[in-house]
Amino acid sequence: KESSSRENNVAKIRVVVRKRPLNKKELSRKEDDVVSVSGNGLTVHEPKLKVDLTAYVERHEFCFDAVLDQQVTNDEVYRETVQPIIPTIFQRTKATCFAYGQTGSGKTYTMQPLPLRAADDLVRLLHHPTYRNQKFKLWLSYFEIYGGKLYDLLSDRKKLCMREDGRQQVCIVGLQEFEVLDVQIVKEYIERGSASRSTGSTGANEESSRSHAILQLVVKKHNEVKDTRRNYNNNNNDANESKGGKVVGKISFIDLAGSERGADTTDNDRQTRMEGAEINKSLLALKECIRALDNDQLHIPFRGSKLTEVLRDSFVGNSRTVMISCISPNAGSCEHTLNTLRYADRVK
Ligand code: ADP
Ligand code: MG
Repeated sequence: KESSSRENNVAKIRVVVRKRPLNKKELSRKEDDVVSVSGNGLTVHEPKLKVDLTAYVERHEFCFDAVLDQQVTNDEVYRETVQPIIPTIFQRTKATCFAYGQTGSGKTYTMQPLPLRAADDLVRLLHHPTYRNQKFKLWLSYFEIYGGKLYDLLSDRKKLCMREDGRQQVCIVGLQEFEVLDVQIVKEYIERGSASRSTGSTGANEESSRSHAILQLVVKKHNEVKDTRRNYNNNNNDANESKGGKVVGKISFIDLAGSERGADTTDNDRQTRMEGAEINKSLLALKECIRALDNDQLHIPFRGSKLTEVLRDSFVGNSRTVMISCISPNAGSCEHTLNTLRYADRVK
């Protein structure tokens, strides 16, 4: 199939790093900022001790598609990562934008505002002369994967299950979808859904998340005659035709579980251990899928975890992936920061 030149201008996979500023607590502890950014590169200055206990600094250099320094605003993050993809959604593209990083590194801060801006641009395109007469509608859903299970964040954490139809389309049975008529409502959905996410407090003061939150914006083409009939058909498990529309394209925003939680596999608490194992499995599977996508492999190992299974249809055909790796700048986070950067490096 021929893809337009506009599509080709947008890289299939983009790996971007975002550094947050030192927070109040880190400043009050007089922690060093060990991350310096220069263009698309960044250096981590890792404090180390020799065997005779003299201090030295080990430098680790990295290079990515873009590195967003601490003063970069959320608006600029949007323009750098998601906005270039938006027009491709109307050209049968399934896009995903991930926020990866340790708890407290800025994933939620980065991810929360993105769907709002994206919806604003998508609605504008719906009304554009090119698409105005095409019976396109924009739908929103918001769910979470916690301990390998799916919960609808917009309908009282109702438990959901996943199915595949005959054409290998993913369908999340029972997932509520809401039509986006104006953008203000998106803000309400984000707030409502985020409030019902599973959170737990960790030793650190920050709220930690052991769940992946997935907000999807889906553009569908609606055929009115079919619409009325389909709306009464509750057993309709064809993802392509749900709510009477045919999926044109979509974008998924994924606020991943804290990357350090994947190491919880030795915790005393059995529940925590199991959740840690699940997180570890899903982050590894995600990396493998993105790498397979990048190498144009025919076989995408999406069965490796619930997360990648759910995203299956976003890993085939016209797909776009943006990975935003969030890092904390403080010396105390050095090890986690290096882990995050190495993960991002392998995805790229
Ligand atoms: P995570 O979701 O990765 O656990 P958060 O997004 O909750 O981390 O961020 C942790 C704290 O740091 C929050 O108080 C958030 O407001 C703040 N923060 C994160 N990124 C930035 C940034 N780029 N600029 C300013 N504050 C930030
Ligand atoms: Mg968070």
